[in-house]
Amino acid sequence: MASSCSYLPKHSSFQNHSISTNNVTSILSFFFLIFIPIHVLPVIVSSTSYQDGATNDLFFELLKKEAVERLYELGKVSDAHGYLERTFQSPASVTASKVIGAWMEDAGLRTWVDNMGNVHGRCDGLNPSEKALLIGSHLDTVIDAGLFDGPLGIISSISAMKLLNRTDRITKLRRPVEIIAFSDEEGVRFQTTFLGSAAIAGVLPVSTLDVHDKNGVSVKGALRQNSLEIDEESLLLLKYDPESVWGYIEVHIEQGPVLEATGLPVGLVEGIAGQARLKVTM
Ligand SMILES: [Zn+2]
Repeated sequence: MASSCSYLPKHSSFQNHSISTNNVTSILSFFFLIFIPIHVLPVIVSSTSYQDGATNDLFFELLKKEAVERLYELGKVSDAHGYLERTFQSPASVTASKVIGAWMEDAGLRTWVDNMGNVHGRCDGLNPSEKALLIGSHLDTVIDAGLFDGPLGIISSISAMKLLNRTDRITKLRRPVEIIAFSDEEGVRFQTTFLGSAAIAGVLPVSTLDVHDKNGVSVKGALRQNSLEIDEESLLLLKYDPESVWGYIEVHIEQGPVLEATGLPVGLVEGIAGQARLKVTM
């Protein structure tokens, strides 16, 4: 994997867009196929324009069978024995990054790891200078985590892009699509949150690079141990210009009871929770 990022910062927030173009709708429908029980799958597939048996087999192979296998494979990449734990820049996180990078390349994407350890996989499509659709989730976990929290969003998007690649449509996308596996969302190691995505959004304070874990290793030091150098200048370069971003989609396991209670396989959210860690001295 290469290690460069060519996006220059200008603003700090991404624009929201309605999901309306055919390509993106197709991509989204691929995602959702993964979550829909298999007895529903033939109905969905037959409603698309890809109705031959070989393509149906490919839908099943890539969007369900392989995706599920990969979820279980990544679920074994842990720093702990007997349960799942992958914290920022831990040995298991580095292994997971390599596995995810290889899967991205297998899907026909150009890959790189940025200076905060985020893993990127991008295809430019027909119009490389168009605003890109970003798709992502986090590769780190909480302690004793579930299999799907984070990896679901990464693996489902890789599977969707792999399907487009295998059906010769990845080069015909009207805008770039980029998958990002964020290096940190949970904030377990440094008691911070969103180290990876905050850097991309341009809202990570430079002072965070000097925050230490319980063993006295700083964020900067943890990255350096894995040959990733970060300083104020390189952190600023990680920020994506919102003018280069068309939208962002994240597929995530539901962390509440609503879908289960209503018996629905998938839902679209109108907002998400934020996280803050505060230290209070009494
Ligand atoms: Zn999550």
